[in-house]
Amino acid sequence: MSHAPHEQEIRAAAAHFGRRRFLTVTGAAAALAFATNLPGTGAAYAAEADARTITENPFTLGVASGDPQPGSVVLWTRLAPRPYEPGNGMPNARVTVRWEVAYDEHFKRLAGRGRADAHPEFNHSVHIEPTGLAPDRVYYYRFRAGSWISPVGRTRTAPARAARISELKLAAVSCQAYHDGYFTAYRHLAQEDLDVVFHLGDYLYEYPVSAVGGARNYTDRKLPALFNRETVTLEDYRLRYALYKSDPDLQAAHAAHPFIVTWDDHEVENNYASDISEDNLPPAEFLVRRAAAYRAYWENQPLRRPQRPNGPDARLYRRLQYGQLAQFDILDTRQYRSDQAYGDGWHVPGAESEDPGRTLTGATQERWLIDGWRQSTARWNVLPQQVTFSERRNATGAGYQLSMDAWDGYAASRRRVLAGAESAGVDNLVVLTGDVHVHYAFDIKKDFKDPGSRTAGVEFVTTSIASGKDGADKPANWATYMAANPHMKFYNGRRGYLTVTLDRDTARGDYRTVSAVTSPGAPVHTAASFVSEAGHPGLKPA
Ligand code: FE
Ligand code: CA
Repeated sequence: MSHAPHEQEIRAAAAHFGRRRFLTVTGAAAALAFATNLPGTGAAYAAEADARTITENPFTLGVASGDPQPGSVVLWTRLAPRPYEPGNGMPNARVTVRWEVAYDEHFKRLAGRGRADAHPEFNHSVHIEPTGLAPDRVYYYRFRAGSWISPVGRTRTAPARAARISELKLAAVSCQAYHDGYFTAYRHLAQEDLDVVFHLGDYLYEYPVSAVGGARNYTDRKLPALFNRETVTLEDYRLRYALYKSDPDLQAAHAAHPFIVTWDDHEVENNYASDISEDNLPPAEFLVRRAAAYRAYWENQPLRRPQRPNGPDARLYRRLQYGQLAQFDILDTRQYRSDQAYGDGWHVPGAESEDPGRTLTGATQERWLIDGWRQSTARWNVLPQQVTFSERRNATGAGYQLSMDAWDGYAASRRRVLAGAESAGVDNLVVLTGDVHVHYAFDIKKDFKDPGSRTAGVEFVTTSIASGKDGADKPANWATYMAANPHMKFYNGRRGYLTVTLDRDTARGDYRTVSAVTSPGAPVHTAASFVSEAGHPGLKPA
């Protein structure tokens, strides 16, 4: 009986042949191999090692929680005594991790406890899905391995489905290029009073990180040379997550709030589309890289079992409910999209970008979204996703260009989604967006070419945590963009994050900015606030 090669064999073969040749020869088979010999698939897996043999603190990457449901929230950690070394200083064996959930931060009253295996096949990550917790409640959690105890995380379950909660406060973040600056915005976000944080993609970047951490310009330490290359292999991506996860500000944010994550492009490669890479490698070759990147993503995020990749495929789009107040349809606009029109970049829209056959979501996800809206009873239908939804012209008058990587390059897809929302009776659509490294506020127009057309919802675009370095309140194209896009209500080019407060009557967005990220410790302030009324979409200054 033939079987696909084991992951260790893949690595050995890659080392033997050299990366390029290996990928060319065995791409498709190697992609399939990521699905084999994993714990829980019935295959034999690694022997157990006694956790007491771990002689250095394995909790260097912090803890995280995510995807809250009414009685459950995912608890995550990953054992890595030496996070910057291949293998992370762990034996090639599974290790028992104990976990506890408590009603109080001193763990006097436990709500649940258990054991789980940290498998070497998953880089010694653990994803606990405790059940039987109370809805809409704060909990504290921690892990033990041998004599080591993790930092304490705080989390919160979702309200019961039928609950008529009065208010929900979330944050949205995106784009955290480590090499562009400090995660100061996360330090402030950790202090906010929030129910949940949405990460809208570019959690890591594939680009090289220099010994001084790029723009962080470390003077007190040197990063190993293995970070100073683009991530391609599973080991590359795992190590890159270790670098990011070792950041104390990112750890503080995860320890303070549950996260609901989705990816954009850089978790794999800049501006990839489905199985098409930036430089148009053979798809079979690129899918090996995508499989490695998706695998490392799942290992490092507080995601549930249904989101675990199967080779180069992963079901990341999913629906989460917060009582009767909000339904969140979290999209994946990378895995199923048509290739960017006109070879990507900014272009005058035309026959190619307007092709009705183009899709940003894929047909299955589009149907799932619109069906979900039809069944929604929520006051607010929120769409956390990656790329700018509203039209964004780069010049006034004729001859303007649009970004072919955003919804503007997939006009038919956007029209179908907006028509679907209208036919489903979605009155209160709120789109949450990342990717562009600036804050924007938009009224979503039924027809962007007609400023007088109906406002179909509002879009809050959050700026980057770090990508783009310090930035400026008004970038050079600020006046042009504001004039060319009358539905654009706000534009700010600093780093930061967004908070959105939903109640029965209003959706309010507060645009938070930090003045610098290339030096640590900048304060945070609110650059602008907007509200949209339920039943009457349209942003007004708050
Ligand atoms: Fe980005
Ligand atoms: Ca992006």
